[in-house]
Amino acid sequence: MKAGFVSIFGRPNAGKSTLLNALMGEKLAIVSPKVQTTRHRIKGILTEPDYQIILSDTPGIIDPKYKLQEKMMMAVKQALEDSDLALLLVSIQEDWKEVNDMFESLHLSVPAIVVINKIDEANEQKKEEAFRFFTSKSYCREVAAVSALKGKGTNELTGIILKYLPEGEPFFEEDQLTDLSTRFFVGEIIREKIFFLYEEEIPYHSTVLVQEFKEKESLTKIQADIIVQRESQKAIIIGEGGKKIRELGTLARKDIEEFIGRKVFLELLVKVRARWRDNDLYLKEYGYQ
Ligand code: GDP
Ligand code: MG
Repeated sequence: MKAGFVSIFGRPNAGKSTLLNALMGEKLAIVSPKVQTTRHRIKGILTEPDYQIILSDTPGIIDPKYKLQEKMMMAVKQALEDSDLALLLVSIQEDWKEVNDMFESLHLSVPAIVVINKIDEANEQKKEEAFRFFTSKSYCREVAAVSALKGKGTNELTGIILKYLPEGEPFFEEDQLTDLSTRFFVGEIIREKIFFLYEEEIPYHSTVLVQEFKEKESLTKIQADIIVQRESQKAIIIGEGGKKIRELGTLARKDIEEFIGRKVFLELLVKVRARWRDNDLYLKEYGYQ
């Protein structure tokens, strides 16, 4: 069994969304345009008897025409490094040199596959030129050529992805995929609000565990734990008289309601768990190994 996280990176219009859809095919498990997290922005989970590919795209709008802020590139790099494999997507019509500069500036340490897209718009010769151009680059393990739009080359790409995916158990059970992934997203929405509302180290020392997710007649009841490392952080999360955590709850609830399309009763509890970031089981649940 192979299982892992695959991040897709590329300029706007390279064809990321189209490629995601092509890879997912009929097995469109989840596509969430709303949820954006700093760690993984999961767009789809592809589960087969012998593998599970969790596809995300990367944050940040990349336009190498402008001087890229280092911070933005760092965020993109972080997201790519947090995955098992990076797909660097480039349209055959783009300026390859410019795109190559951008890929090089990432200094990736995860394996990267360059995926040349939109080959339906070019002849064989141009395709071969692009192949040669990217094959010689140091960050590039392998080159794949696809037409995401026409669904050409996507099976071959899946085969290449599997070569680089680690052995391991699936992160999401197939028969529980919907429920588990909904829970996962709910946790990510709450985490996103923590990033929005709290400062300094708080977001980095907190995480969220959805403990209860129950569909009742007229609403969905959700209970989530916010895990922090210290008592002082717990006090900050709660705020004076509980004001801050109520604000967090309201913001998160609204987004969750929009995401699942139902009314939500959301209960948040803050728990102190020293060194949660060293807990393997917990980290695995969130896609860190
Ligand atoms: P994203 O911004 O990277 O997510 O790019 P999109 O997936 O939204 O695609 C941008 C545009 O390129 C859309 O008009 C797509 O239809 C088009 N496109 C994507 N893949 C292909 C392809 O393989 N061939 C052609 N001809 N067009 C494509
Ligand atoms: Mg897109």
